[in-house]
Amino acid sequence: MPERLCLSCTEVGEAFATDPALQRIMSQHPMPGAPEGAAPCTFAARGETVEEIMEQCAKHATESHGWHSFPSGMWNELRKHVRSVSA
Ligand SMILES: [Zn+2]
Repeated sequence: MPERLCLSCTEVGEAFATDPALQRIMSQHPMPGAPEGAAPCTFAARGETVEEIMEQCAKHATESHGWHSFPSGMWNELRKHVRSVSA
């Protein structure tokens, strides 16, 4: 069974709220409509590679949350929060 990867928008919000490295990055680059305090979002990225997940998250962040640029280092930290799910 091929392993699938997943990262939901809610999990990204939790990562921003709990990961010290991400908190440091985001505090230096305030973003409009950051997940914290935003309405619950049901989006979840799914794919077979972390790159796919990051691409989907970037697209979702731009289309649904109005983020048009991302702090450097954010994706590098966020990719550590991608989790495996059984297919
Ligand atoms: Zn979202």
